[in-house]
Amino acid sequence: MQTWEQLQETQPNVVRMLKNSILKNRIAHAYLFEGGRGTGKKAVGIQLAKSFFCINKTGAEPCNSCIECKRIESGNHPDVHFLSPDGLSLKKEQIKDLQREFSKKSVESKGKIYLIEHADKMTNQAANSLLKFLEEPDGQTIAILLTEQVQQILPTILSRCQILNFQPLTADLLLQKLLQQGVPAHLGKIVASLTNNINEALAIISDDWFAQARNIVIQLNEVLLKRGHHALLFLHENWLSHFKEKEQLSVGLDLLLLWFKDLLYIQIGEENSLIYIDQKELLEAQSMRFSQKKIVDDLTVILEAKKRLNANVNPSLLMEQLILKLQEG
Ligand SMILES: [Zn+2]
Repeated sequence: MQTWEQLQETQPNVVRMLKNSILKNRIAHAYLFEGGRGTGKKAVGIQLAKSFFCINKTGAEPCNSCIECKRIESGNHPDVHFLSPDGLSLKKEQIKDLQREFSKKSVESKGKIYLIEHADKMTNQAANSLLKFLEEPDGQTIAILLTEQVQQILPTILSRCQILNFQPLTADLLLQKLLQQGVPAHLGKIVASLTNNINEALAIISDDWFAQARNIVIQLNEVLLKRGHHALLFLHENWLSHFKEKEQLSVGLDLLLLWFKDLLYIQIGEENSLIYIDQKELLEAQSMRFSQKKIVDDLTVILEAKKRLNANVNPSLLMEQLILKLQEG
């Protein structure tokens, strides 16, 4: 449960616009909320429904405790309907059911709201049924369509909706939110560089594998700093057994990339940008050893390795070649 004020932190434009419409009593008949996963589309849709029905709101802010708010929160409001794909697609029958439901008007009702998740998953027949529905607004019905794939929505539907664009979370804002949830800073900082989705970030952090992966990347750099030929040994004894799957190795390379970016930050004096905030000593020792050109070359080599990983090169061969390159110079 979030307030408009909280939602506004992540989606300032969308929320400002909607709050304004609520205050002026000018809510549109159909909205399309467009944006990536985890950008708060559904939360904003639910909040809009609460603002519409709440019997005790302050300005645009619903009270969250009246019967209307509570029923919406629990998904049991008779005039607020949620639709999501049944299996792989949203089917015509689902839209028809919704229309039948909406044709039963209750006398006391203020209006009706329906929210369709993954609206891009509508079959053509479903989309055409919905289109008719959108074309005949009875003045009291509000449609909220959500999508991550706006380019897959029929233009005829788009043209009948007010389209609101949900921006991805910035790394800074995501980090703030993670810290608020008690995530340690050294992990928050790194995960916020890998994703802009808060749920994904929390899932990554809750998996002990990730914290270990980070440690292995740090250890590899300790070994690289000592030189000698231990790096290949470390690769076979520690690295390859942790980054077994292709996706895991891809995360490993991302973590390594962030490490080398940190080396560059140290060299150009941008220490505020460091990702491995608790590893300054090691980063400084390593960056003294390397020229700026060497670090930039190494970044290129790691990026190359990522590309080759996607081209299905044997992972242990790929890593051996990468380590040898990093050891050079
Ligand atoms: Zn309320």
